[in-house]
Order: sequence, then structure tokens, then C-alpha cells
Amino acid sequence: MTDLQSNAKIIDGKAFAEGLRGRIAKAVADLGPKGLVPGLAVVLVGENPASQVYVRNKAKQTVECGMKSFEHKLPATTSQAELLALVAQLNADPTVHGILVQLPLPAQIDPQSVIDAIDPDKDVDGFHVVNAGRLSTGGKGLVPCTPLGCLMLIKDRMKDLAGKRAIVLGRSNIVGKPMAQLLLGESCTVTIAHSKTRDLAGECRRAEIVIAAVGRAEMVKGDWIAPGALVIDVGINRVPTPDGKGKLVGDVAFAEAYPHAGAITPVPGGVGPMTIAVLLRNTVVAACRARGLPVPAGLD
Ligand code: NAP
Repeated sequence: MTDLQSNAKIIDGKAFAEGLRGRIAKAVADLGPKGLVPGLAVVLVGENPASQVYVRNKAKQTVECGMKSFEHKLPATTSQAELLALVAQLNADPTVHGILVQLPLPAQIDPQSVIDAIDPDKDVDGFHVVNAGRLSTGGKGLVPCTPLGCLMLIKDRMKDLAGKRAIVLGRSNIVGKPMAQLLLGESCTVTIAHSKTRDLAGECRRAEIVIAAVGRAEMVKGDWIAPGALVIDVGINRVPTPDGKGKLVGDVAFAEAYPHAGAITPVPGGVGPMTIAVLLRNTVVAACRARGLPVPAGLD
């Protein structure tokens, strides 16, 4: 453990995700006697190396939590009709509670058509328009994993979010918009900023919670952070280093922001590890709802 990681100001996403996986494993063990084993199907089309690593990690962590993992690896030449047929088969399979089609997909397949075809109650990525609608209307749906993971980290540090001024930098459908909806659901006063926002620094300085999800290396500077603000850095950006290996940095200039922040996530080791843990959590939630069981304690 480095000095920074042992510092209470640093939000240790790796440790939090480990704790969450522990609670998931316990919930799964408790469901066994009720005849329910949550199952996650992950579909990979083609041989994108980064996607192969993600899919491998998802499958490994699924099994480690005591759940069933169904891996479907299809060739890069798969047609949209073939992929849709597999999704229909998984929708109908009662042992599959969560379906994830790894993005990006090859050019001949329209990703939106595939997302639209997934049963919303098995859409553990939370990307289906029905789940986006449920989130924005306060309904019970499945929430995208990365923003839900961010909210868990925030709530672990800040017990009462009501009335807090929060800014979300970025308005993508997978991070920025659902993040803003989640914070609104917690009664924060939410600003959503994007590439056309004027005076981004000034907007940030008013915020007690800053979520950066722009995909711009170290764009958020230290003096954008109000004293004591909680900073969640979603960004994952590879930047060059003199040794040619490159390194990962976030959307926040960490060393500059650290002295101002009340708490801050590092990159790597902050938000990143939460995403798969929340995917497993969503699968357990989907399985319980499919059987009319309550969401296990520690996962809701
Ligand atoms: P995205 O779809 O590219 O969206 C980026 C957003 O940032 C857009 O809304 C864009 O505004 C805004 N933006 C871009 N440049 C800006 C600027 N100079 N000032 C203000 N806003 C700006 O990205 P994403 O999928 O949401 O991902 C964002 C980052 O999070 C990426 O680094 C990605 O790798 C990372 N990520 C991490 C995880 C994880 O597990 N930790 C998961 C998902 C994503 P416009 O809408 O106006 O273009």
C-alpha cells in the first residue's frame, strides 16, 4: 500500500469493490437453498484485445462470487441477425438473469438494435431505453454500472446528499446522464456540464461534489475544486511517458486537486474496480426480482 492509498482522503475503490463482492458472494450463498443461482451471460463478438480482457475478468469474478457464467464468443463476421437470435435465446433462458453484450461491436452490427433487443429486466448494463426511462422517472430498473458504483463511493463518504451542489462533467448516456439522475434522486442540486458549457472552472468551483467523466486527460485543474469537495474521477486516459510504456491518468489533475479535495478517487484504483462489482450486483438484483424475492441486504 502506498502512502497515498493509506491516506483517508483517498477513496480506495479497489477495497470498496472487494467488500461489495464479498456481500454479493454472501447473498448468492444465501440464495442457493432457495434454488436460485444468479447467472450472467456475456457475449463477445470479434477479437478486440481490450474486450477479451474485460470479458475474461467479468467471467472470473462472476464464478468467484458463486454465480453461473455463460460466455458466448462469436466470430467478427457474425451478422446482426445471428447476434439478435442469440440475444432472443438468452432472453428466453430462465437460468440467465443478466445479459451483457460487450461493446464495441463490429461495423456490420448496429449496437442500439442489439441493446434494444435485450429484455430490460435482464439488461444488467442498464443501457436499455426502458431502464433509462425508469431511472429518470424514479422507477425500479437496472442502473448503469459505472455511475451506480460512483454513487456507492459517494454515499460511503457523504452520509446526507440532500441539497448538496453536485456537478457532472460529461453527458454521455452511459455515465454522465445516469450519474446526474442518480444524484438528483438523492436530492442533490445537479449541474450537468459538457463541451459547450461556459466557464467550466467557475461551475466546478461552486460544487461540493464533482464527477468528472469527459475522457480528457487531467482536464480538471486543482483550482477548480472547492475546499473540501468530494471528487470522483471516472476518466481513464492513457498518456505517453518517456519510457514509452505510457500510463493511465484520470480526467482530474490528481496531484493538483488533492490538496483542495475533502476526498478524491485515484486513477487507477478508484472508480474503475467498481464497474464489474456493480455488474455482478445488478445480476443478483435481476435474479431476485425475476423470482419475486427482495434485494439482499447490502446490495440495495
Ligand atoms: P463520452 O461518451 O466520450 O462523453 C464525454 C463527455 O464529455 C461528453 O458529454 C462531452 O461533451 C464531454 N466533454 C468532452 N470534452 C469536454 C470538455 N473539454 N469540456 C467539457 N465537457 C467535455 O465518454 P464516456 O463514455 O462518458 O466516458 C468518459 C470517461 O470515463 C472516459 O475517459 C472513459 O474511458 C471513462 N469511463 C470509465 C469507466 C470506468 O469503469 N471507470 C466506464 C466508462 C467510461 P459533449 O456531449 O458536448 O460532446
